[in-house]
Amino acid sequence: MAKKYKSLRGIRDISGAEAAGFNEIISKASELLEKYGYERIFLPVIEYTNLFARSIGEDTDIVSKEMYSFKDKKGRDISLRPEGTAGAVRSLIQADQLSGKIRRKIYYFGPMFRYERPQKGRYRQFYQLGCEVYSFPSPYHDAEIIEIADKLLKLCRVKDYSLGINSLGCAEDRSSYKKAVKKKLEGKVEKLCPDCRRRLKTNTLRVLDCKNSRCREIYQELPGMDDFLCDDCGDYIEKLRQILDSRGVKYSIDSGLVRGLDYYNGPVFEFKVNDSAVIAGGRYNKLVRELGGPDMPACGWGLGMERLVAAANLEPASQKKAALIKVEGGRIETCRRIADNLRNKGISVSEGYEDISTGKKFKITDKNRIVKVVIIGGEEEKNKTVTLRDMETGKQESVPADDVESLARKILAKKILARKTDV
Ligand SMILES: [Zn+2]
Ligand SMILES: [Zn+2]
Repeated sequence: MAKKYKSLRGIRDISGAEAAGFNEIISKASELLEKYGYERIFLPVIEYTNLFARSIGEDTDIVSKEMYSFKDKKGRDISLRPEGTAGAVRSLIQADQLSGKIRRKIYYFGPMFRYERPQKGRYRQFYQLGCEVYSFPSPYHDAEIIEIADKLLKLCRVKDYSLGINSLGCAEDRSSYKKAVKKKLEGKVEKLCPDCRRRLKTNTLRVLDCKNSRCREIYQELPGMDDFLCDDCGDYIEKLRQILDSRGVKYSIDSGLVRGLDYYNGPVFEFKVNDSAVIAGGRYNKLVRELGGPDMPACGWGLGMERLVAAANLEPASQKKAALIKVEGGRIETCRRIADNLRNKGISVSEGYEDISTGKKFKITDKNRIVKVVIIGGEEEKNKTVTLRDMETGKQESVPADDVESLARKILAKKILARKTDV
């Protein structure tokens, strides 16, 4: 049958194992963040366009090329959010939650939108989870968010990730660094890609982000930002390194790390897997002020959900799932009672009420990748038992119907794989 309706180009549905992974990561992240005193906030996906232009920067690729912008019915300029921080800051200022406050810690999760050319692993609607600390600048806050990210990656059993950190310094440091970069590139401008030639005039440091191999080669000769840090900025990143060392967080200094947004200053960092950033963030001390709020420094990170799910090694949720099948002679009341008992033990139980053959019911559980099936029929009713079947091995056993502990334990038990020689 021809499909009449399709999702928009570059926008996809998330289901099955990937959706289960989203769920798992959101719950791990929320639990972790709340232990550190972060509160979840729910933010709109649409904002006035000028909010993003002001915060992210007019000349960034995000704002100049990739925003989903349109006019609403009253002709107002609206955009779908391309990232979460601008909206979070707008919201906290609007609700007057920053003035006179010592500290505010928040986190959010939701879809973000960028109108990029669709390609593998890049979607126009993608999901981010982010956390932010609004407080006086202390490297302990920077260290805390980095430590949380590190813990989360460990909880998700991400293998072989690396953490790079850098300092972008204050405005003065950056302006002397920019001058040095421009000077060093004099006479080489013709060799740079068109994007870099433009960036060199409008947003000099962004050239360091360039992926073009010829540009990269030229930039290798550039001095590092760390040579241009003032005493305060130098001390700050040094203190951050000491805290990370003392907490056993492994990192390396990545002097090419500049981040694609205008609002960063001071420390920035990226957790990478296979050369792509999974969690990235930094400090933005002027953003709240810039958007009309009080003088409130902040730092935070954003996590790319699609990338983390792909890199994570999560326990299959199927281990906590069971299906309950009623066959001839089984009573619906018994099924419901046993299903509820198992749910109270943290097991997800789906009951089938369809009046179909047992074979078909087995097929359905198979399709849903449910391994453990609890069967209740006439024989079981008579003996006050249930039959527990492992769909992968075909093994069946009888368990007393009201021995919930034992039944739950058997469902949750790690599967013992048949040895090859047994077959
Ligand atoms: Zn400085
Ligand atoms: Zn370039």
